[in-house]
Amino acid sequence: MAWVSSETGLREEDSVCSHVADTASNILVLGELLVESKEFMAQKIPVGILGATGLVGQRFIQLLGDHPWFEVAWVAASERSAGQTYAEAARWKLRTPVPERVAKMEVSAAEPAGAPKVIFASLDAGIAKEMEPRFAEAGCAVISNSSAFRMHKDVPLVIPEVNPEHLKLLECQSWRRKSGGFIVTNSNCSVMGLVLALAPLQQQFGLEQVFAVTMQAVSGAGYPGVASLDILGNVIPYIAKEEEKMEEEAPKMLGRLSGSSIDPAPFRISVQCNRVAVEDGHTESVSVKLGTAAEPEQLIEAWQGFSGKPQEMKLPDAPEQPIMYDTAPDRPQPRLDAERGGGMSVSVGRLRPCNLLDWKFTVLSHNTIRGAAGAALLNAELLKAQGYLG
Ligand code: NAP
Repeated sequence: MAWVSSETGLREEDSVCSHVADTASNILVLGELLVESKEFMAQKIPVGILGATGLVGQRFIQLLGDHPWFEVAWVAASERSAGQTYAEAARWKLRTPVPERVAKMEVSAAEPAGAPKVIFASLDAGIAKEMEPRFAEAGCAVISNSSAFRMHKDVPLVIPEVNPEHLKLLECQSWRRKSGGFIVTNSNCSVMGLVLALAPLQQQFGLEQVFAVTMQAVSGAGYPGVASLDILGNVIPYIAKEEEKMEEEAPKMLGRLSGSSIDPAPFRISVQCNRVAVEDGHTESVSVKLGTAAEPEQLIEAWQGFSGKPQEMKLPDAPEQPIMYDTAPDRPQPRLDAERGGGMSVSVGRLRPCNLLDWKFTVLSHNTIRGAAGAALLNAELLKAQGYLG
């Protein structure tokens, strides 16, 4: 299905280029279409969601429900879902209802033909590896959640508050040169909270070593995810490829853009990942060795005062405070704190001296919002604000 705007009824085939203006009335029609087209563009950019029926896809639909810049115009998933309405195909797991307009939309096959030019992708890495380049090749801006291209040298892995300048890598992508399309990624859900908490420390005191142990929510495994008999009353000390992803993605995001590549930040990092019986919110126990000595008040000040481009540019999904420090001795907790800042703020607490490194503390972030759909949406807002979305 080609996209269609709910606000103006303007269809893809109503493209101004397809009208020949060789008579006065044609010119009038053309003028009206131009005005209509401009108004449409001024209102909302049509976006598509690849993997729309999955847990992250559902978050996209929820977060885009009332977005001031973007409008869901196309939803796609596997052959299992294609041809059904979204309400029939998606096993909706969020507490707010499916937006009525999207519920009635037909799920498309995951093909670039007929898709809008801005695509949020939440596909399994194996599928994304084959599918995302096809959309980029067709001229789409692919804003991806998957790990398939995160470590590719020409693909930016971006947290807008931390490394917005890495977007310059887009200019090196062959898709961008040929069709205007590109792929930009956000990080793995557990490294997202960690890197946000590390960024102000790295900026102000330097970072030499990081050790982290995660307690990751079941929603991080998608739906149906981990079997209930495996996780209830249990902890699973293994998440496939998670430790490797965290250990390689953190230095890339905290690294420096040098010409047309990224020099990874040189700190040493070791991570251990666990799946726990929590619905949403990844908690991490972190120890760090800093480059220069600092007092605890300075670390807390660095976290509390941290902000970046999204706050400066007032992007619609930017949390007012990206990192919130909680002084209570038993916080942050996923059930109480994961939704701070609409799920876009990272909570830090329990700062105390570490007997092995310098300092230890706890980090919590919402895995399907700040760690996935919200992260991609903030990337899209930054891309739009910087003129990358046409
Ligand atoms: P999920 O719940 O399993 O959803 C997967 C989605 O992919 C579904 O919409 C599914 O459609 C679709 N799909 C499967 N095979 C397909 C195919 N051949 N062609 C087109 N679509 C296909 O997974 P998820 O949790 O949303 O995760 C999606 C991606 O985001 C993964 O790469 C994951 O690692 C990443 N991620 C997840 C989280 C998290 O917290 N969950 C956080 C960060 C990143 P059907 O419904 O039709 O099968």
